[in-house]
This record gives sequence, structure tokens and C-alpha cells, in this order.
Amino acid sequence: MKVISDLNQAPLVDRSLAAVWHPCTQMKQHESFPLVAITKGKGAWLYDEKGNALLDAISSWWTNLFGHSNPRINQAITAQLEKIEHVMLAGFTHPPVVELSEKLAALTDHHLGHVFYASDGASAVEIALKMSHHYWQLHDKPQKKKFVCLENGYHGETLGALAVTDVAIFREAYGSLLQDVFTITSPDARKAKLGESAEDVAKHAANQLEELFAKEHHNIAAFIVEPLVQCAGQMAMFSAEYLRLVRNLCDRYEVHLIADEIAVGCGRSGKFFACEHAGIWPDFLTLSKGISGGYLPLSLCLATDNVYQAFYGDQTSQGFLHSHSYTGNPLACAAALACLEIFATDKVLEKNIERSKDLAKAFAWAKSDSRIEYWRQQGMILAFDVKNNSLKDPKAFARTMFANSLDKGVLIRPIGNTIYVMPPYILTPEESIQLGAAVQSALEKTLA
Ligand SMILES: *Cc1c(COP(=O)(O)O)cnc(C)c1O
Repeated sequence: MKVISDLNQAPLVDRSLAAVWHPCTQMKQHESFPLVAITKGKGAWLYDEKGNALLDAISSWWTNLFGHSNPRINQAITAQLEKIEHVMLAGFTHPPVVELSEKLAALTDHHLGHVFYASDGASAVEIALKMSHHYWQLHDKPQKKKFVCLENGYHGETLGALAVTDVAIFREAYGSLLQDVFTITSPDARKAKLGESAEDVAKHAANQLEELFAKEHHNIAAFIVEPLVQCAGQMAMFSAEYLRLVRNLCDRYEVHLIADEIAVGCGRSGKFFACEHAGIWPDFLTLSKGISGGYLPLSLCLATDNVYQAFYGDQTSQGFLHSHSYTGNPLACAAALACLEIFATDKVLEKNIERSKDLAKAFAWAKSDSRIEYWRQQGMILAFDVKNNSLKDPKAFARTMFANSLDKGVLIRPIGNTIYVMPPYILTPEESIQLGAAVQSALEKTLA
């Protein structure tokens, strides 16, 4: 551990390592591994203290949509700052939260017409789980209280969200704090056997869910899924058919469907909501990450009329009992409104079709590389896996590749042996090419 005697003389990185406890990090690894100090951002680029530029190819943990220091979002936040920075949302309301809720409801064609707010993604998941649980109590079915989640799924790291998350290292450390859940097979298309399609894998996986529902539906409140891409789960992608099948099963067995679109929502999948690819709506839909354009912590859970009505009555105890201090923060809502405005005026989803083709071209080299398998893409997410037998030290691969990419001026963060990019929606064709080439040369260095 570093002890710093003269704080003001020390580099920012050393001061950070002394005083800041970084998230999901073994701090000791930073003794040999660079921490990067960022002092400025513009567009798709981050800049360190010395002015070195880094292409933010993962949108700062999948949050940024329209670039850093975007003039329109900056302007929306400063304009709101002149009016009201924050007011509690219990007993009070304000223009940005009303407008944002109306716009989101309209984006779902009013299938999900009621918006409950929080600040981080995990809290939005907690809200969906609690609402579902409470709903069944209000419907005199208190035994319906278990949750079903997918193998390899990720829904956040607070205790409720972690219970429906399937990440081994978290389970080992915190498993005894977590409620019991049913974890079922993932429809991950990489599981397809010779001659099988992604739809076949989806059908097998849905059959397993049906078996579970047939036996246990009396005890099950909700099934939670990340539509189309299990992002933290190595960008495992699956067929939209799976969503149609599970929507149908949830209807038949009276189980809520929770679509966690915290990572895949806000246009990331190619449509505004990933569920739109399947033509279905869930009972609950969570958003966070991109919703404020990567500016301010904001998350939300959309719910149907049917859910909303269950909580509507004379008793306080029948209401949904949940709140956060910063629920519906006006500045964050103003940032989100600016993003929705950009989607509408700049035809973002249409232009992203071209952008994702640019990405595919820039990474075409990886398709034909014999050391690489499972090249895949969904909208503005592109991923592929480096074969295990090509790795000298599989445990060190992600970190070494990260460091080598930084040397090439690119920020990526491989997950295990999966390399992925998830850039902001402002990437130019030239930046795409630059990104593809930098990742290729970083990979050559890492595998050499
Ligand atoms: C990131 C993420 C979360 C958790 O969001 P936080 O803001 O990090 O709490 C939940 N679900 C999915 C699918 C995510 O990608």
C-alpha cells in the first residue's frame, strides 16, 4: 500500500490509489497495473492529464450515448440548474419528471405507462422484484414469491439484484446473504450444436423454463431476463424467439416477465427497447445506464396499467413502499429528456444501422482469424471470443489486452476471453476503422 507524504506533489493516480477505493477492483493489482486519470472528455474521446487521447469504445461502462461533453445535453442540464436542481418526489413533482415519464410511456405505446424512479440500475431491479412480490400479495397469492433468472445473467450487485445474478465470484463471496432463486439454462446462441440454429437453442432453453413453471408456478412471482444480450455475461447473444416463447409461458403460468434493459435499452440493441425485436412487452422494464446519456445517475422501472392498478387503493400499505432520496432528480431527468430529443431529431436509430455496419467492417479481420470464434453483433454491440487454446495465460488475458489497447489509444475492457466494443452513437466511420485496427494490433501483441 502506498503512503503519500506530500499530497499536492504526488501524481493524481497515486493520490487516487491512496484515498479512493475503486469498484470491483483488487486494489493491489494497481501496483503493477496502470490506473488511468481522466481530466477531460469530448465526443468519443477521453483525455488524461498529459492530454493523451483514448477512444472510449465501451461508452464508459455502457452509459454514454452521444459522446462526452455533448453540447445539447450540457445545455439542457445547465438550463435546468437555473430552475431547480432537486426536490423530493414524494408529495412533489416537477416538469422534467412529468415530461420524461410521458415520453417513455409513449415509446412503449402505453403498454408500460407508469414510471417509478431510482438512481442506479441495481435499485431499478430491486424495484421490479419488490413490485412483483407485493403485487402477488395484493392478489391474495403470497406464496408466489420466488424469482427465476438465467444462468450467466447479471442484474446488479445490491442484495436483491445479486440474488438473481449468476456470477460465480459474487456467489462465493456473498451467497449466504442472498435469497433462494431458480436459475435456468441460458439461450446463449454459442451453445448451438452442429446443424442447430439460435432459434433451436432458444426453444430448448424455453422448454426448460416451461418444465419449471409447470411444477413451480404457484411459488413463482417473476422471471427476469436481459433481452437479447447478456452483457456482463460475456456478451452472450440469443434469438428474439426466446423472448416470444417466454412471454407466452409467463402469460400461461401467471408469472411476471421482467425485462432488464439497463444495458440493452436506449437504442443499444438497434431498436429503442430490445423487446421490440421480439414484438413483445414485459410486465416490468428497467432502464438506467444510457438513459441519462451517461451524465447523471438515473434509473427507472416501467410498469403496466395492470400492475399499477393493483397498488391503487385507500390504504397506504397497499401503495408501493419504496423511495430513494434522489428519486426523479430534475437534472438527471433533464439530461434524459435531452437524449430523447436527440433520438427524435437526429434519426439516431436509423443512422446506427450504418454505424453498426461500419463497426462490422472495421472488425471484419476478426471473422477470418483462426484464433477467434463466435463473432457476433447486435446493434451497437460487437463481440468475439479468443479461443482458449490461443491463450498462454487465460487468467491474465483480459488485463493484458486492456493494457495493450490503452497503449494503442483505445479503451476496451475484455470480459474473460471475450473482446467487445460498445461505442457511443457518434462514432465516425474513421473512428470505427481506427478502433478496429487498434484492437487488432493490441491483440497481436497480447497473443505474441
Ligand atoms: C449494469 C447493469 C445493472 C446494474 O446497474 P448499476 O447502475 O451498475 O447498479 C443491472 N442490470 C444490467 C443488465 C446491467 O447491465
